[in-house]
Amino acid sequence: MRRKLVLGNWKMHGSKAQVRQLLAGLAARIGEVSSAVDVGVCPTHLHIPLVADLLAGSRIGLGAQDAYADPSGAVTGAVSVSMLVEFGVSWVLVGHSERRQLFGETDQQVATKFAAVLEQGLVPVLCVGETLQQRQEGDTETVVLAQLQAVINKAGIEALGNSVLAYEPVWAIGTGETASPAEAQIVHQALRAHMAAMNAQVAADTRIIYGGSVKGANAQQLFEQADIDGGLIGGASLEAEEFISICKNAD
Ligand code: PEP
Repeated sequence: MRRKLVLGNWKMHGSKAQVRQLLAGLAARIGEVSSAVDVGVCPTHLHIPLVADLLAGSRIGLGAQDAYADPSGAVTGAVSVSMLVEFGVSWVLVGHSERRQLFGETDQQVATKFAAVLEQGLVPVLCVGETLQQRQEGDTETVVLAQLQAVINKAGIEALGNSVLAYEPVWAIGTGETASPAEAQIVHQALRAHMAAMNAQVAADTRIIYGGSVKGANAQQLFEQADIDGGLIGGASLEAEEFISICKNAD
């Protein structure tokens, strides 16, 4: 039985004061969320030490939004996975569509990053998703399965068993548009079937979470779908009450 997972992706948001306020709000209400649901937040790299301190002893886990694959070196502006390990990070998002689009990250780079995260003992959260044009052209499954396959080619199917997949249709991220539960389920099922053709156990065990304008009001219907194991939450994770409401709907 797969445990539900809800991760907040704070993106490039938050002052130190806002981070403190948000975490205080989450701490006050996390007790309302079933212990059957895993919960985590992914602040900016700069806020990770502060968040790690404030989350000490909490059941809310710590994630990072990105990492560089090499452990150290002449890479101006980058943060390596081993640095994240030192600060108590558990999950690392890899291949978020904003990284793919704004920073030109390729499937190959994402796969290399995925392997580096696993090698350091952290859990990669591999984000896949199609653009609106790709969906309109009927290419959704081709696109997301190719993104997944690039990682399988690099890391092997067994590696997926120690990771999380996040299906995030690009057209639904930050737009207020959400894939309907049925639309999302079709893609989640296709991702799981693709893994199952190579390793049935890995397919059965791997959590596939959904991201794209999830809110308290639509979370339950999405999370009830057979192959949706929780959510990756952007905008709504910046409001403690809304984020807690989403987490409660995951039970
Ligand atoms: C995201 O960026 O991962 C995301 C799902 O954003 P939002 O919830 O704001 O659409």
